[in-house]
Amino acid sequence: MSRPIQAHIDLAALAHNLRVARRATAARVLAVIKANAYGHGLLQAAEALGEADGYALLDVRDAVALREAGFRQPILLLEGFFSRDELPLVAEYELSCVIHSVRQLDWLDAYPRPHGLSVWLKFNSGMNRLGFSPAEFPAVLEKLKAHRAVREVTLMTHFAQADEAAGIAQQQALFEQLAAPCRLPCSLANSAALLRHPAAHGDWVRPGIMLYGSSPFADTSAQQLGLRPVMTLSSEIISIQNLKAGETVGYGATFRAERAMRIGTVACGYADGYPRHAPSGTPILVDGRRTRTLGRVSMDMLAVDLSELPDVRIGCRAVLWGEGMPVDEVARAAGTISYELLCALAPRVPVSS
Ligand SMILES: *Cc1c(COP(=O)(O)O)cnc(C)c1O
Repeated sequence: MSRPIQAHIDLAALAHNLRVARRATAARVLAVIKANAYGHGLLQAAEALGEADGYALLDVRDAVALREAGFRQPILLLEGFFSRDELPLVAEYELSCVIHSVRQLDWLDAYPRPHGLSVWLKFNSGMNRLGFSPAEFPAVLEKLKAHRAVREVTLMTHFAQADEAAGIAQQQALFEQLAAPCRLPCSLANSAALLRHPAAHGDWVRPGIMLYGSSPFADTSAQQLGLRPVMTLSSEIISIQNLKAGETVGYGATFRAERAMRIGTVACGYADGYPRHAPSGTPILVDGRRTRTLGRVSMDMLAVDLSELPDVRIGCRAVLWGEGMPVDEVARAAGTISYELLCALAPRVPVSS
Protein backbone atom coordinates (compact mmCIF):
# COMPACT_ATOMS: atom_id res chain seq x y z
CA MET A 1 0.00 0.00 0.00
CA SER A 2 1.31 3.46 -0.87
CA ARG A 3 0.58 6.62 1.04
CA PRO A 4 -3.18 7.08 0.89
CA ILE A 5 -3.36 10.68 -0.33
CA GLN A 6 -4.80 11.35 -3.77
CA ALA A 7 -6.44 14.04 -5.85
CA HIS A 8 -9.38 13.00 -7.97
CA ILE A 9 -10.39 15.19 -10.91
CA ASP A 10 -14.06 14.99 -11.88
CA LEU A 11 -13.90 15.72 -15.60
CA ALA A 12 -17.69 15.58 -16.00
CA ALA A 13 -17.95 18.37 -13.40
CA LEU A 14 -15.49 20.44 -15.43
CA ALA A 15 -17.67 20.05 -18.53
CA HIS A 16 -20.75 20.86 -16.43
CA ASN A 17 -19.20 24.08 -15.11
CA LEU A 18 -18.36 25.15 -18.65
CA ARG A 19 -22.05 24.74 -19.52
CA VAL A 20 -22.91 26.96 -16.53
CA ALA A 21 -20.58 29.61 -17.94
CA ARG A 22 -22.10 29.22 -21.39
CA ARG A 23 -25.65 29.61 -20.16
CA ALA A 24 -24.65 32.89 -18.50
CA THR A 25 -23.40 34.56 -21.67
CA ALA A 26 -23.85 34.98 -25.40
CA ALA A 27 -20.13 35.74 -25.79
CA ARG A 28 -17.58 33.18 -26.89
CA VAL A 29 -15.88 31.38 -24.04
CA LEU A 30 -12.11 31.30 -23.67
CA ALA A 31 -11.44 28.70 -20.97
CA VAL A 32 -8.55 29.85 -18.78
CA ILE A 33 -6.23 26.92 -18.17
CA LYS A 34 -3.13 28.69 -16.89
CA ALA A 35 -1.10 27.19 -14.02
CA ASN A 36 -1.63 23.61 -15.20
CA ALA A 37 -5.37 24.33 -15.42
CA TYR A 38 -5.41 25.68 -11.86
CA GLY A 39 -3.70 22.48 -10.72
CA HIS A 40 -6.09 20.10 -12.51
CA GLY A 41 -3.76 18.86 -15.27
CA LEU A 42 -3.45 20.85 -18.50
CA LEU A 43 -4.31 18.31 -21.17
CA GLN A 44 -7.05 16.43 -19.37
CA ALA A 45 -8.68 19.71 -18.36
CA ALA A 46 -8.46 21.08 -21.90
CA GLU A 47 -10.05 17.90 -23.19
CA ALA A 48 -12.88 17.99 -20.65
CA LEU A 49 -13.39 21.64 -21.65
CA GLY A 50 -13.40 20.65 -25.31
CA GLU A 51 -16.62 22.60 -25.97
CA ALA A 52 -14.82 25.86 -25.19
CA ASP A 53 -14.38 28.32 -28.07
CA GLY A 54 -10.74 28.77 -27.12
CA TYR A 55 -8.17 28.49 -24.36
CA ALA A 56 -6.03 30.97 -22.47
CA LEU A 57 -2.76 30.22 -20.69
CA LEU A 58 0.71 31.62 -20.10
CA ASP A 59 3.43 29.34 -21.29
CA VAL A 60 4.14 29.00 -25.00
CA ARG A 61 5.32 25.42 -24.42
CA ASP A 62 1.95 24.51 -22.92
CA ALA A 63 0.22 26.09 -25.92
CA VAL A 64 2.42 24.03 -28.24
CA ALA A 65 1.55 20.89 -26.25
CA LEU A 66 -2.15 21.62 -26.77
CA ARG A 67 -1.66 22.08 -30.53
CA GLU A 68 0.38 18.88 -30.72
CA ALA A 69 -2.44 17.10 -28.88
CA GLY A 70 -4.78 18.21 -31.65
CA PHE A 71 -6.60 21.23 -30.23
CA ARG A 72 -7.62 23.53 -33.09
CA GLN A 73 -9.36 26.35 -31.18
CA PRO A 74 -7.71 29.74 -30.65
CA ILE A 75 -5.10 29.59 -27.87
CA LEU A 76 -4.32 32.90 -26.24
CA LEU A 77 -1.03 33.60 -24.49
CA LEU A 78 -2.30 35.79 -21.63
CA GLU A 79 0.98 37.67 -21.23
CA GLY A 80 2.10 37.32 -24.83
CA PHE A 81 5.65 36.32 -25.70
CA PHE A 82 8.34 36.74 -23.06
CA SER A 83 11.20 37.01 -25.55
CA ARG A 84 11.89 37.38 -29.26
CA ASP A 85 12.78 33.71 -29.40
CA GLU A 86 9.18 32.71 -28.81
CA LEU A 87 7.87 34.43 -31.95
CA PRO A 88 8.67 31.61 -34.39
CA LEU A 89 6.70 29.17 -32.20
CA VAL A 90 3.83 31.64 -31.89
CA ALA A 91 3.68 31.85 -35.68
CA GLU A 92 4.18 28.18 -36.43
CA TYR A 93 1.50 27.04 -33.95
CA GLU A 94 -0.89 29.92 -34.73
CA LEU A 95 -1.11 31.17 -31.18
CA SER A 96 -2.93 34.38 -30.26
CA CYS A 97 -0.89 36.84 -28.23
CA VAL A 98 -1.56 39.53 -25.71
CA ILE A 99 0.56 42.61 -26.41
CA HIS A 100 0.93 44.67 -23.28
CA SER A 101 4.31 46.38 -23.60
CA VAL A 102 6.50 48.45 -25.89
CA ARG A 103 9.17 45.78 -25.58
CA GLN A 104 6.85 43.26 -27.21
CA LEU A 105 6.06 45.74 -30.00
CA ASP A 106 9.78 46.13 -30.66
CA TRP A 107 10.25 42.36 -30.90
CA LEU A 108 7.33 42.23 -33.31
CA ASP A 109 8.89 44.97 -35.48
CA ALA A 110 12.18 43.09 -35.58
CA TYR A 111 10.57 39.79 -36.55
CA PRO A 112 11.65 39.21 -40.12
CA ARG A 113 8.46 38.05 -41.82
CA PRO A 114 4.72 38.61 -41.75
CA HIS A 115 2.88 35.86 -39.97
CA GLY A 116 -0.82 36.67 -39.64
CA LEU A 117 -0.72 37.11 -35.93
CA SER A 118 -3.91 37.46 -33.87
CA VAL A 119 -3.10 40.12 -31.31
CA TRP A 120 -4.99 40.94 -28.10
CA LEU A 121 -4.08 44.49 -27.23
CA LYS A 122 -4.14 44.94 -23.48
CA PHE A 123 -5.45 48.17 -22.08
CA ASN A 124 -4.65 49.12 -18.50
CA SER A 125 -8.00 50.38 -17.23
CA GLY A 126 -7.03 50.42 -13.56
CA MET A 127 -5.56 47.09 -12.53
CA ASN A 128 -2.11 48.65 -13.04
CA ARG A 129 -0.41 45.35 -13.67
CA LEU A 130 -0.09 45.02 -17.43
CA GLY A 131 -1.15 47.04 -20.44
CA PHE A 132 -1.06 50.39 -22.16
CA SER A 133 -2.34 53.57 -20.53
CA PRO A 134 -5.19 55.62 -22.02
CA ALA A 135 -2.57 58.02 -23.38
CA GLU A 136 -0.50 55.30 -25.10
CA PHE A 137 -3.38 53.18 -26.31
CA PRO A 138 -4.55 54.98 -29.52
CA ALA A 139 -1.09 55.13 -31.10
CA VAL A 140 -0.32 51.50 -30.27
CA LEU A 141 -3.65 50.43 -31.73
CA GLU A 142 -3.01 52.32 -34.99
CA LYS A 143 0.44 50.79 -35.21
CA LEU A 144 -0.86 47.25 -34.70
CA LYS A 145 -3.72 47.66 -37.18
CA ALA A 146 -1.20 48.66 -39.83
CA HIS A 147 1.45 46.10 -38.83
CA ARG A 148 2.49 43.65 -41.54
CA ALA A 149 2.74 40.82 -38.98
CA VAL A 150 -0.77 41.34 -37.58
CA ARG A 151 -3.93 39.82 -39.05
CA GLU A 152 -6.48 40.87 -36.43
CA VAL A 153 -6.70 42.87 -33.22
CA THR A 154 -8.91 42.16 -30.20
CA LEU A 155 -9.12 44.70 -27.40
CA MET A 156 -8.74 43.46 -23.87
CA THR A 157 -8.70 44.61 -20.28
CA HIS A 158 -8.80 42.94 -16.86
CA PHE A 159 -10.85 43.94 -13.80
CA ALA A 160 -9.44 44.36 -10.31
CA GLN A 161 -12.70 44.15 -8.34
CA ALA A 162 -15.27 42.28 -10.42
CA ASP A 163 -15.89 40.03 -7.41
CA GLU A 164 -16.42 42.88 -4.93
CA ALA A 165 -19.04 45.50 -4.17
CA ALA A 166 -16.89 48.19 -5.78
CA GLY A 167 -17.48 46.38 -9.07
CA ILE A 168 -16.22 47.32 -12.51
CA ALA A 169 -18.05 50.54 -13.44
CA GLN A 170 -15.03 52.80 -13.53
CA GLN A 171 -12.75 50.42 -15.42
CA GLN A 172 -15.52 49.44 -17.80
CA ALA A 173 -16.34 53.10 -18.59
CA LEU A 174 -12.69 53.87 -19.30
CA PHE A 175 -12.42 50.82 -21.55
CA GLU A 176 -15.65 51.59 -23.44
CA GLN A 177 -14.57 55.14 -24.03
CA LEU A 178 -11.48 53.97 -25.88
CA ALA A 179 -12.85 50.78 -27.39
CA ALA A 180 -16.27 51.83 -28.65
CA PRO A 181 -15.06 53.94 -31.60
CA CYS A 182 -12.69 51.15 -32.74
CA ARG A 183 -15.39 48.56 -33.56
CA LEU A 184 -13.04 45.70 -32.78
CA PRO A 185 -13.80 42.51 -30.82
CA CYS A 186 -13.44 42.99 -27.06
CA SER A 187 -12.68 40.83 -24.03
CA LEU A 188 -13.10 41.99 -20.44
CA ALA A 189 -14.73 39.42 -18.18
CA ASN A 190 -13.18 36.92 -15.77
CA SER A 191 -15.47 34.48 -13.88
CA ALA A 192 -16.79 37.16 -11.52
CA ALA A 193 -17.69 39.59 -14.30
CA LEU A 194 -19.15 36.77 -16.36
CA LEU A 195 -21.51 35.90 -13.50
CA ARG A 196 -22.33 39.40 -12.20
CA HIS A 197 -21.75 41.94 -14.98
CA PRO A 198 -23.44 40.88 -18.21
CA ALA A 199 -22.96 44.34 -19.72
CA ALA A 200 -19.21 43.69 -19.71
CA HIS A 201 -19.22 40.37 -21.56
CA GLY A 202 -18.00 41.78 -24.86
CA ASP A 203 -17.16 39.20 -27.54
CA TRP A 204 -14.98 36.84 -25.50
CA VAL A 205 -15.33 36.01 -21.80
CA ARG A 206 -12.39 34.51 -19.90
CA PRO A 207 -13.65 32.32 -17.05
CA GLY A 208 -11.10 30.47 -14.95
CA ILE A 209 -11.97 29.67 -11.36
CA MET A 210 -15.68 28.96 -11.91
CA LEU A 211 -14.79 26.17 -14.35
CA TYR A 212 -13.00 24.42 -11.50
CA GLY A 213 -16.10 24.59 -9.33
CA SER A 214 -15.17 27.42 -7.01
CA SER A 215 -17.05 30.65 -6.43
CA PRO A 216 -15.33 33.93 -7.28
CA PHE A 217 -17.49 35.65 -4.65
CA ALA A 218 -17.12 35.77 -0.86
CA ASP A 219 -20.89 36.04 -0.39
CA THR A 220 -22.13 33.31 -2.75
CA SER A 221 -21.17 29.64 -2.65
CA ALA A 222 -20.22 27.56 -5.66
CA GLN A 223 -23.27 25.41 -5.02
CA GLN A 224 -25.54 28.48 -5.13
CA LEU A 225 -24.00 29.27 -8.52
CA GLY A 226 -24.78 25.76 -9.75
CA LEU A 227 -21.09 24.81 -9.92
CA ARG A 228 -19.75 21.36 -9.08
CA PRO A 229 -16.40 20.73 -7.38
CA VAL A 230 -13.79 19.32 -9.75
CA MET A 231 -10.77 18.47 -7.59
CA THR A 232 -11.24 16.32 -4.49
CA LEU A 233 -8.14 16.00 -2.33
CA SER A 234 -8.51 13.07 0.02
CA SER A 235 -6.43 10.88 2.28
CA GLU A 236 -6.87 8.62 5.30
CA ILE A 237 -6.58 8.57 9.06
CA ILE A 238 -3.29 6.77 9.73
CA SER A 239 -3.14 7.12 13.53
CA ILE A 240 -5.46 7.82 16.45
CA GLN A 241 -4.37 9.38 19.75
CA ASN A 242 -6.19 9.95 23.02
CA LEU A 243 -5.31 13.20 24.76
CA LYS A 244 -5.69 14.05 28.41
CA ALA A 245 -6.78 17.55 29.39
CA GLY A 246 -3.81 19.90 29.10
CA GLU A 247 -1.94 17.92 26.45
CA THR A 248 -1.00 19.60 23.17
CA VAL A 249 -0.98 18.74 19.48
CA GLY A 250 1.84 19.05 16.95
CA TYR A 251 4.79 21.41 16.43
CA GLY A 252 4.81 24.47 18.59
CA ALA A 253 2.12 22.92 20.80
CA THR A 254 -0.28 25.55 19.46
CA PHE A 255 -3.40 23.54 20.32
CA ARG A 256 -4.01 22.52 23.94
CA ALA A 257 -6.84 20.15 24.91
CA GLU A 258 -9.13 21.63 27.53
CA ARG A 259 -10.55 18.19 28.29
CA ALA A 260 -9.88 14.61 27.24
CA MET A 261 -10.01 14.34 23.44
CA ARG A 262 -9.73 11.77 20.70
CA ILE A 263 -7.74 12.97 17.71
CA GLY A 264 -6.70 11.50 14.36
CA THR A 265 -3.67 11.98 12.16
CA VAL A 266 -4.35 12.46 8.44
CA ALA A 267 -1.68 11.63 5.86
CA CYS A 268 -1.64 15.08 4.26
CA GLY A 269 0.66 18.00 4.95
CA TYR A 270 2.05 21.14 3.45
CA ALA A 271 4.35 19.15 1.17
CA ASP A 272 1.16 17.92 -0.50
CA GLY A 273 -0.06 21.47 -1.01
CA TYR A 274 -2.27 21.76 2.06
CA PRO A 275 -1.70 25.27 3.47
CA ARG A 276 0.56 25.34 6.51
CA HIS A 277 -1.11 28.55 7.64
CA ALA A 278 -4.51 26.80 8.00
CA PRO A 279 -5.27 27.37 11.69
CA SER A 280 -6.83 25.02 14.23
CA GLY A 281 -10.52 24.85 13.36
CA THR A 282 -10.15 24.63 9.58
CA PRO A 283 -13.04 22.45 8.35
CA ILE A 284 -12.32 18.92 7.10
CA LEU A 285 -14.52 15.93 6.30
CA VAL A 286 -13.73 12.63 8.05
CA ASP A 287 -15.75 9.53 7.22
CA GLY A 288 -18.28 11.80 5.54
CA ARG A 289 -18.73 14.07 8.56
CA ARG A 290 -17.43 17.56 9.18
CA THR A 291 -14.86 18.17 11.85
CA ARG A 292 -11.87 20.48 12.31
CA THR A 293 -8.10 20.46 12.12
CA LEU A 294 -6.04 20.84 15.28
CA GLY A 295 -2.62 22.43 15.77
CA ARG A 296 -0.02 23.17 13.13
CA VAL A 297 0.00 21.43 9.77
CA SER A 298 3.22 19.39 9.39
CA MET A 299 5.04 18.57 6.18
CA ASP A 300 3.30 15.21 5.72
CA MET A 301 0.51 15.09 8.30
CA LEU A 302 -2.15 17.08 10.07
CA ALA A 303 -4.34 16.41 13.10
CA VAL A 304 -8.14 16.34 13.27
CA ASP A 305 -10.65 16.31 16.10
CA LEU A 306 -12.45 12.97 16.42
CA SER A 307 -14.01 13.63 19.82
CA GLU A 308 -17.50 13.73 18.31
CA LEU A 309 -16.78 10.94 15.81
CA PRO A 310 -16.34 7.80 17.95
CA ASP A 311 -16.81 5.43 15.00
CA VAL A 312 -13.84 6.75 13.06
CA ARG A 313 -11.05 4.16 12.80
CA ILE A 314 -7.62 4.06 11.22
CA GLY A 315 -8.14 3.83 7.47
CA CYS A 316 -11.22 6.08 7.41
CA ARG A 317 -11.31 8.56 4.56
CA ALA A 318 -10.61 12.25 5.07
CA VAL A 319 -11.56 14.85 2.46
CA LEU A 320 -9.37 17.94 2.65
CA TRP A 321 -11.42 19.72 -0.02
CA GLY A 322 -13.69 18.89 -2.92
CA GLU A 323 -16.78 16.69 -2.86
CA GLY A 324 -18.59 17.44 0.42
CA MET A 325 -16.06 20.00 1.61
CA PRO A 326 -16.02 23.19 -0.50
CA VAL A 327 -12.50 24.37 -1.27
CA ASP A 328 -13.77 27.91 -0.77
CA GLU A 329 -14.54 27.18 2.91
CA VAL A 330 -11.10 25.70 3.51
CA ALA A 331 -9.48 28.65 1.74
CA ARG A 332 -11.42 31.18 3.80
CA ALA A 333 -10.48 29.45 7.06
CA ALA A 334 -6.84 29.50 5.96
CA GLY A 335 -6.96 33.18 5.02
CA THR A 336 -6.47 32.60 1.31
CA ILE A 337 -8.46 31.90 -1.87
CA SER A 338 -9.29 28.64 -3.59
CA TYR A 339 -7.03 29.56 -6.53
CA GLU A 340 -3.96 29.29 -4.33
CA LEU A 341 -4.96 25.94 -2.82
CA LEU A 342 -5.82 24.35 -6.18
CA CYS A 343 -2.68 25.61 -7.94
CA ALA A 344 -0.48 24.48 -5.07
CA LEU A 345 -1.39 20.80 -5.31
CA ALA A 346 2.04 19.20 -5.04
CA PRO A 347 3.50 17.03 -7.80
CA ARG A 348 3.95 14.18 -5.30
CA VAL A 349 0.16 13.75 -4.95
CA PRO A 350 -1.12 11.04 -7.31
CA VAL A 351 -3.92 12.36 -9.53
CA SER A 352 -6.74 10.20 -10.87
CA SER A 353 -9.67 11.10 -13.07
C1 LIG B 1 -6.52 34.33 -14.65
C2 LIG B 1 -7.18 35.28 -15.58
C3 LIG B 1 -8.54 35.16 -15.87
C4 LIG B 1 -9.44 34.17 -15.16
O1 LIG B 1 -9.81 34.70 -13.91
P1 LIG B 1 -10.80 33.90 -12.91
O2 LIG B 1 -10.95 34.82 -11.77
O3 LIG B 1 -10.09 32.65 -12.55
O4 LIG B 1 -12.05 33.67 -13.67
C5 LIG B 1 -9.07 36.00 -16.82
N1 LIG B 1 -8.29 36.92 -17.46
C6 LIG B 1 -6.98 37.07 -17.18
C7 LIG B 1 -6.19 38.10 -17.89
C8 LIG B 1 -6.38 36.26 -16.23
O5 LIG B 1 -5.09 36.43 -15.95
